[in-house]
Amino acid sequence: MFIILNDLRAMEKYAEEYNIPIMERRGLKFLVDYIKSKNVKSILEIGTAIGYSAINMALSNPGVSIVSIEKDEVRYLEAIKNVKKFKLDKQITLILGDALNLELTEKYDLIFIDAAKGQYVNFFEKYSQNLNDKGTIISDNIYFHGLIEQNIRIEKKNLRQLVDKIKKYILFLEGHEEFKTEFYKIGDGIAVSRKRVITNEDRYITEEFE
Ligand code: SAH
Ligand code: MG
Repeated sequence: MFIILNDLRAMEKYAEEYNIPIMERRGLKFLVDYIKSKNVKSILEIGTAIGYSAINMALSNPGVSIVSIEKDEVRYLEAIKNVKKFKLDKQITLILGDALNLELTEKYDLIFIDAAKGQYVNFFEKYSQNLNDKGTIISDNIYFHGLIEQNIRIEKKNLRQLVDKIKKYILFLEGHEEFKTEFYKIGDGIAVSRKRVITNEDRYITEEFE
């Protein structure tokens, strides 16, 4: 137990030293609690970094299996080392590649999006095909250090564009016909999207207008 905690702390330190944006502890707790309470068994993660969130998710329950994608080779190699250190090779499969260029055929209970913020709409649209009917898509960093809610002019162009993209993502989720999203101000902001259940009444209404 202590060894595990020490290794987790070492990963947090490494992330801080090399400026790797791993999940915040409170956000991570929310994610792990969600996995436990909804009995999530299979997870696709977009954005492994050094494996910190994947390892935490895997430790939450030995019955959980995770596929995680990372496009940066240095981080991917570090993640491989970490997964081995925790002896989680059986639970975690790491893929090196750009998530937007991969074709996965499996379906998952949970898709966790935590990669390039400007691409969230694309990740969501692409990978919602890989979601089980009762599955959930969780997106991290949707409040982006609180910048999303403030109506201030951001001087740095790159940052401003990124914030605009996250705002667009929030609008995209809010307007999505197939998914209902709840937003939580936990950690750096988390969105939880689930497929809407089509009731008989909805069906009746659609049929009437067809
Ligand atoms: N989930 C991790 C943190 C991920 S940080 C944790 O909490 O521990 C985001 C990562 O996404 C970065 O390492 C970045 O290289 C990766 N990334 C960004 N765009 C990507 C893409 N298109 N495909 C795969 N990985 C991507
Ligand atoms: Mg994140």
